[in-house]
Amino acid sequence: MSSQPRTLIAGNWKMYKTEGQAVELAAGLVAGLADALPPERELLILPPFTALKTVSEKLRGRERMFVGAQNFYPSEEGAYTGEIAPSMLADAGCTHALAGHSERRHVIKESDRFIAQKVAFGLQAGLHMILCIGETLDQRTHGSMENVVKGQLRLGLAQVNKETVTPEQLTIAYEPVWAIGTGETAEPEDILSAHAVVRKTLEEHFPHCGNGIRILYGGSVKADNAAAILGLDNVNGVLVGGASLQVESFTAIATAD
Ligand code: PGA
Repeated sequence: MSSQPRTLIAGNWKMYKTEGQAVELAAGLVAGLADALPPERELLILPPFTALKTVSEKLRGRERMFVGAQNFYPSEEGAYTGEIAPSMLADAGCTHALAGHSERRHVIKESDRFIAQKVAFGLQAGLHMILCIGETLDQRTHGSMENVVKGQLRLGLAQVNKETVTPEQLTIAYEPVWAIGTGETAEPEDILSAHAVVRKTLEEHFPHCGNGIRILYGGSVKADNAAAILGLDNVNGVLVGGASLQVESFTAIATAD
């Protein structure tokens, strides 16, 4: 890589934590990590919508600690019942957002085209976008990991302006679906080979900056496997679900060495 980006430790709280519980967890993380977060790392918390504002207030003024949204609707405003616009997220203190998480692809049935719209719209709205990709167990068993990963990347990034996008605006998260919430972490060889495919595809797609875009690994990352995963080639951070819901485990992951 040309210049080493900061390692991103992201916690996806999914549909867990009431506002009060979220603020308590955020306060615990701030207390535990204010002096302990290594200088080359950034922390990102992705709470449910209802806790975005109060969690942002807890993190305000903290260096290298950010709040992001798990989802939004790609429009400035309008008649979209139940949806949230990027401007509302920014107003609540968000700087980052996810698109393409496997639960939204497979449970909510979001299409690659819709995901691509979100990535491009979120970038335009000034959010740092994290595009999540990853193959199912069935796809892996049939030897299609590489094709699935390349396809999701190409389609998800199709509307991004190749000339202007920078590594400060975009991150990719490789999350094999079979490893999410299952306790089944991918083996180091699986992570290495998938991340190499992601890196090569990024370099082809974005010749001027593909080598600097961060690639996170996600899928049953825990305190006891985080250091090994973070030490792998082309792993520039982790996206953590279950283990980000407790102060002890998420603090241990954020400081794992
Ligand atoms: P997990 O979730 O860490 O609970 O496997 C990861 C994710 O969904 O981002």
